[in-house]
Amino acid sequence: MENDGTKNEIDIEEEDEWQLFASAGYASSELESEEQEIPQDIPEEIWFDGDDFDFEGSTVNWDSPPCPAPLGIAHVIKIGLCDHCINRVSGIRIGTHGPDNGALIRANAYEKDNELESSIMQDYCPLCENLFDDVDNIVDRVFETLSETKFSTMQFGIHLPKELVQEEDRVRSKYGSQGSYPLKGALVEAIHHRISKINKEVEFVKERPDVMVLVDGLTLRVDVDVRPIFLYGRYRKLSREIPQTRWPCRACRGRAGGCESCKGTGLQYPDSVQDLIGEPIRKELGAEDTSFHGMGREDIDVRCLGSGRPFVLEVKRPLVREYQLDHLVRLVNENGSGKVELDDLIWTSKKKVNEVKQSRSEKTYTIRFSVDDLGDEEEAKQAILSLSGKVISQETPKRVSHRRAAKTRKRRVSSVDKVSVEGNEIEMTLRCEAGTYIKELVHSDEGRTSPSVKSVMGSECHVIWLDVEEIHTD
Ligand SMILES: [Zn+2]
Ligand SMILES: [Zn+2]
Repeated sequence: MENDGTKNEIDIEEEDEWQLFASAGYASSELESEEQEIPQDIPEEIWFDGDDFDFEGSTVNWDSPPCPAPLGIAHVIKIGLCDHCINRVSGIRIGTHGPDNGALIRANAYEKDNELESSIMQDYCPLCENLFDDVDNIVDRVFETLSETKFSTMQFGIHLPKELVQEEDRVRSKYGSQGSYPLKGALVEAIHHRISKINKEVEFVKERPDVMVLVDGLTLRVDVDVRPIFLYGRYRKLSREIPQTRWPCRACRGRAGGCESCKGTGLQYPDSVQDLIGEPIRKELGAEDTSFHGMGREDIDVRCLGSGRPFVLEVKRPLVREYQLDHLVRLVNENGSGKVELDDLIWTSKKKVNEVKQSRSEKTYTIRFSVDDLGDEEEAKQAILSLSGKVISQETPKRVSHRRAAKTRKRRVSSVDKVSVEGNEIEMTLRCEAGTYIKELVHSDEGRTSPSVKSVMGSECHVIWLDVEEIHTD
């Protein structure tokens, strides 16, 4: 009756990792203080030993002043900075933006010193390793990957090799102007700029994006993660033959392609609440898969009626993120006809998953059972009613002991009413604290639940069916 939810929890943890990974700077578009990554104890010799700029017999003025001094500008041009990098380290703005500003600064410097252009040591920018040339290429790949996906917000991150970041920082802090812009931030900005040129609607955010894009600065590999969407609703389960979530086939453990016993589906039960609700939605939104997070769960043979059981459906990698929810409800109700139904769906966020999973509510049940020896009908009724308000003690039921630790729980039976007798069958309605095992409360599970209907009646009881009548959420 409870949801152990192991599978879903793993899913969530994996996502959290992604999020952490992303916010830890790997995919972050925030401007981090990269200075922190630079070990403070690098011996000076390493800097002078480097042969990066000391080649072809050219001399480099190591004592050049930092930008924006004209000599500093001349120096960074000489060592090969591209227009993008000149723009961000020069500390000069001639009224334009980005590489255009860099190009103007360069032209000015050439005018002042007509030997400068011929003394440039390389056309390979030592600060960015010409990464800015790849911005268009990167952005093309992003849009290619997202060509069928609808989204409005994006979080963008780029991972740069540590050595590049360190080297960049060293050169920039020596020759760049004060407060010059670090490489990573400038690259991300250039990419944002390019993306906005292609699609003005894209909004860049630092949390809860529709899509997360991660670029590896070394290989230019582009990874796009389309974030899931979450829908909240309450389901009624009208069938006694379907589990809440997908159950992998016992014979083949749900391997791809399945086996003979599951007719190739990989599933132990062809239907589940998860798929009856999730599949029509998944198809309609062009998503990859779903996860189902219920507020507890009922046994396969138990119906769930009343206003239904709260759940959050997580829709993974959807192509469409905005949709008429009443239309989805209609699709689900058509698909689940006679088995599962919903009244409505609302948009929610991942936060709701934990809320739903952690919530504990009293429930009202109706249960029908047969008794071996009814005895006097009125006495039997009174005996059952005497359980109203009682605190019962339940050891972990035998039927779930393989997956739950042995433990004794105290649970309160809030009320018992509507006891009716028909021949040797009894039907009763009762309201219990969250986590009460109702079938065990009736048949006692060989004395593991005490008191029980069996113990107060002094007769064996056999459960015929059980319904959840209402889940009393507030
Ligand atoms: Zn550059
Ligand atoms: Zn199978």
